[in-house]
Amino acid sequence: MVVEEPGRPLAARELPDPVAASGEILIRVHACGVCRTDLHIADGELPPHKHPVVPGHQVVGVVDEPASSGRFKSGDRVGVAWLAFACGACRYCLEGHENLCERALFTGYDRDGGYAELLTADERFCYPIPDSFPDLSAAPLLCGGLIGFRAWRMCGAAERIGLYGFGSAAHIVLQVARHAGQGTCVFVRTGDHAAERFALERGADWAGDSLKPAPEPLDAAIVFADAGELVPAALRAVRPGGTVVCAGIHMSDIPAFPYSILWGERVLRSVANLTRQDGLDFLELAPSIPVETSIETHPLTDANLELDRLRAGSVQGSAVLARLSVDNSDVRAVEAVF
Ligand SMILES: [Zn+2]
Ligand SMILES: [Zn+2]
Repeated sequence: MVVEEPGRPLAARELPDPVAASGEILIRVHACGVCRTDLHIADGELPPHKHPVVPGHQVVGVVDEPASSGRFKSGDRVGVAWLAFACGACRYCLEGHENLCERALFTGYDRDGGYAELLTADERFCYPIPDSFPDLSAAPLLCGGLIGFRAWRMCGAAERIGLYGFGSAAHIVLQVARHAGQGTCVFVRTGDHAAERFALERGADWAGDSLKPAPEPLDAAIVFADAGELVPAALRAVRPGGTVVCAGIHMSDIPAFPYSILWGERVLRSVANLTRQDGLDFLELAPSIPVETSIETHPLTDANLELDRLRAGSVQGSAVLARLSVDNSDVRAVEAVF
């Protein structure tokens, strides 16, 4: 499924099988999570990098053809996430911030991604998938989980945390926060009672309207939704010294707000991309919680339907595209999750 013209639906295309270059592995895709970033790429809200491009950066599959250097062997289950390459030589890479690399490449944006049956990836930027996660349940860990986890770590030592927007990343981060003993408040779109119920079912201490005050002052908040008006709302909700982290790659303009809501040493910051260490740390933590992803799954050819559902705010938890024929073990995995 290809972005040929941003702003138009993805097109189903037969492409030549990709060929793994030196240091790369060829991966047979079993599942690919749908992320809001895919929507921003498909809709042209992010400037095109590769054109046309196969989107998708939460890929779970098996190694079809391993690289000659041999980090993985044929049949190994691997994940591919958003960071597809970092140079290792620029100031950011040398400082341990490869997420900010000047020459970084991203899966499904600079390189073809996982809305496909096959993709190639630099083996140094692939992750072993923990055995306890079936393919479909593992896919949302690779962006919702990893970048959500990075944003959560940026909140520091918080006793009570707010999550603005309750989609794929937030429903995973909620579990991480609860595991860490934090109180959790979830803020959803005005009138979205289904999302409120979903958050409470998943263990949030409180769920309510994102533009209303928090029930108690928060130590930190993460804004997952792409609505700029949530930034001043979150700043109003955090206590002096608290942190607001914006976790998305794109957001509508943030309205002007009075300095008084930033005053008091509140911190407003963004999180960009991820490092491989974030990925390794989160994939080690996730089975020990254990994180449970709520997923809805559709065949790859229904990618446009799934993007429409995400755009409309209709997805509860994570949306995952499966390869055309979903085998029985995967179907059982889906039933177990629900
Ligand atoms: Zn670099
Ligand atoms: Zn993503």
